[in-house]
Amino acid sequence: MIQLSERTKYFTDSVIRRMTRVCNQYGAINLSQGFPDNDPPKPLLERLEKVANNGPHQYAITWGAKPTLEALANKIKHFSGISVDPQTQLCMTCGGTEAMMCAVMATINPGEKIAIFSPFYENYGADAILCGASPIYVPLHTPDFSFDEAELEDAFKQGAKALILCNPSNPSGKVFTKDELLSIAKLVEKYDAFVITDEVYEHIIFEPYEHVYFASLPGMKDRTVMVNSLSKTYSITGWRLGYVCAPDYVMDRVRKVHDFLTVGASAPLQEAVIAGLELPDSYYQDVKKLYTHRRDLFCAGLDRIGLNYYKPQGTYFVMVDIGEFGYESDYEFCTDLARDVKVGAVPGSSFFKEPVNNYMRLHFAKSDETLNAALDNLSKIRDIIKVRK
Ligand code: GLN
Repeated sequence: MIQLSERTKYFTDSVIRRMTRVCNQYGAINLSQGFPDNDPPKPLLERLEKVANNGPHQYAITWGAKPTLEALANKIKHFSGISVDPQTQLCMTCGGTEAMMCAVMATINPGEKIAIFSPFYENYGADAILCGASPIYVPLHTPDFSFDEAELEDAFKQGAKALILCNPSNPSGKVFTKDELLSIAKLVEKYDAFVITDEVYEHIIFEPYEHVYFASLPGMKDRTVMVNSLSKTYSITGWRLGYVCAPDYVMDRVRKVHDFLTVGASAPLQEAVIAGLELPDSYYQDVKKLYTHRRDLFCAGLDRIGLNYYKPQGTYFVMVDIGEFGYESDYEFCTDLARDVKVGAVPGSSFFKEPVNNYMRLHFAKSDETLNAALDNLSKIRDIIKVRK
């Protein structure tokens, strides 16, 4: 048999997305793959309707349509204070997923090291392998997902050329404080490294926590490759619109990777999303309110059931402790949960490098009705799932 590539041998398909298929198979309420069930904001849909008749329907400029990049640069400036040149420092991509791949490809050579906090969003592991990079995992210590500066420094000492920083953090729901980010910045400066940020949950953040853009810290703009997405902010996960924001010299490389990976993000959708990028501040306050409500509703339900969890500071994910059920495999637990309790979750082990198997990740980006139905199902969890000794 002809041997296939080594690079595709060492990772599985995404467990997050696999759990969506498991949910569909068992008719479970899907709280595994995180996506909202509400419509995108009306102005986006109205613009989309216009685009259907008026175009554009052909390729946009590879890096992104000019009006979209300009609207995006304005939005970035408004929320982070960072001035971005839309002509040289932005690239629209097919979702944050492509953006992350472009960022890693543009900065890391095969054989070089990349630091990744663990638990981590599962794509990063596959991205590192596909780019030939060697990951060094730096633990975020449970139960509060804090990191030890000395452990992070050790990764840089071992030669990590970049750190992937997901903030607000998927799957933990942690929001890094300004002090934590400043301590990362100090190390990045000392060891002359990049930070590749994933800030797709920038607007899903709960009081009193605040999102600090890493690139806005003193001296960090030139070291930060920001990966972002419009999926979560505007409830358009299916549109596959993301972007990279980086200094010119990095962007030059990012754009080349993007050019040959995908040519460009969808032109009609780039046009329609301008209506989102131009929404007033009140829209973002409403997003925050909506998700604060959903978090509070869902966490109050978990409290009633008596399940332990880490209270999310941002994102729409919650890590729930399943240790009491005594399963050796959290994957098996989540399969039983989907089949018998009719709630879909992602096994926590798919986010950890360490042998941790006492968590499941649930998301709460759903209507009250769906969340209440899921909580109702979960309230029977101890009657249905038998504890394994
Ligand atoms: N970011 C979402 C999650 O973690 C969706 C991931 C995806 O499938 N692109 O569930």
